[in-house]
Amino acid sequence: MSIWRTARNRGKSETPRTGPTKAQTYCAYCPKLCRFVCPVSAVQARETVTPWGKQTVLHELVRQTLPLDESAALPLWACLECHGCRTYCDHGIEVPASLRAGRVLAWSHQVAPKPAAALVHGFSERQRRMQLNVAALAAGRAVSAETKLALFPGCKACIDRPREVAAALRVLDVGPNGRAALVADYCCGLPLLQAGDRDGFLAAARRVRRALSGIPFTVVPDPGCLHALRVLYVEAGVTIDTRLLHLSEAVLPVLGRFRKLSLGGPAFYHDPCHLGRDLGIYDAPRDVLSRVLGEGIEEFPRNREKADCCGGGGAVPEVYPDTAVAVARRRLEPLGQPEGTRTVVTACPSCREMLASAGSGWQVKDMIELLDEALL
Ligand code: SF4
Ligand code: SF4
Repeated sequence: MSIWRTARNRGKSETPRTGPTKAQTYCAYCPKLCRFVCPVSAVQARETVTPWGKQTVLHELVRQTLPLDESAALPLWACLECHGCRTYCDHGIEVPASLRAGRVLAWSHQVAPKPAAALVHGFSERQRRMQLNVAALAAGRAVSAETKLALFPGCKACIDRPREVAAALRVLDVGPNGRAALVADYCCGLPLLQAGDRDGFLAAARRVRRALSGIPFTVVPDPGCLHALRVLYVEAGVTIDTRLLHLSEAVLPVLGRFRKLSLGGPAFYHDPCHLGRDLGIYDAPRDVLSRVLGEGIEEFPRNREKADCCGGGGAVPEVYPDTAVAVARRRLEPLGQPEGTRTVVTACPSCREMLASAGSGWQVKDMIELLDEALL
């Protein structure tokens, strides 16, 4: 009997293994050129979780020279999907996509780590909580034939920061498209894909496609959701017929509706990985913040395509929570200790949460909070 076909998974649907891919092979034989940039291997100080290490584990799992069990599969979840390694890879290898396929393989063999399985098993309940949390906001904001613009806030904002969902609606309502509809019944499904449940992700993508069908513009403030809708859905064969915008792109034409705010000094702007490296949106948030913040913005020593991750990507906060917080501390370290009230501002609910959890003394804000405060 194959080492893959154990009593535990016999009879279950399994992802077929067709031999190592180009990405797995290139990384497995690479002299670790991108090693220094991977935040996970930097904080864990383990070769196994370098991009080379994770891809080598996957390479051997696919070649069936390493038995596929929970322990062997665990490093496949040690990726923030930050794409930092791609910036330094001469071959343009997509490590996150490769490891994602590895997690799908592991999931199909029922060897996912428990926190990843909990993400999948808790998905329906999470979706129910998001709907409940913003039910009052959704009143009078259903999609209709007249809807020109919708807000798709994503589950994280609805569950953890419903005030910011309300703030985003107030900000969008001042634009030229009238009152924004609220589409907050569904999660984009990214947590399922990060856990390894590709079928669940596809079902979520199709639900979101139906919910947004026919709406001319949809604003997606969470860069993880925006990357899923713009890129991962398309890769999975699900195309959405609405124009997808980040909040920073949506407010650019109406910047005259905001006053200047003072934060007591310039704020440092943190590039969310999914917004910057994944979608190439670097200038819009800087333009918006420069307009709204009286003292302007400053740059981290590593910024734009070289920006370090906040620790909130992938399923790392669930599977490796200590690593996630250590990565957030590592991101803030180059700024030193703040003197007085100094602010780091970002444009992503996960980045805001991770950087705030680092306990560094820096005040951390999301662009939505500032825009709401600056609204004239
Ligand atoms: S991503 Fe590129 S640089 Fe990094 S290990 Fe793979 S082949 Fe080497
Ligand atoms: S995407 Fe980020 S966390 Fe994942 S291997 Fe590359 S650098 Fe490391």
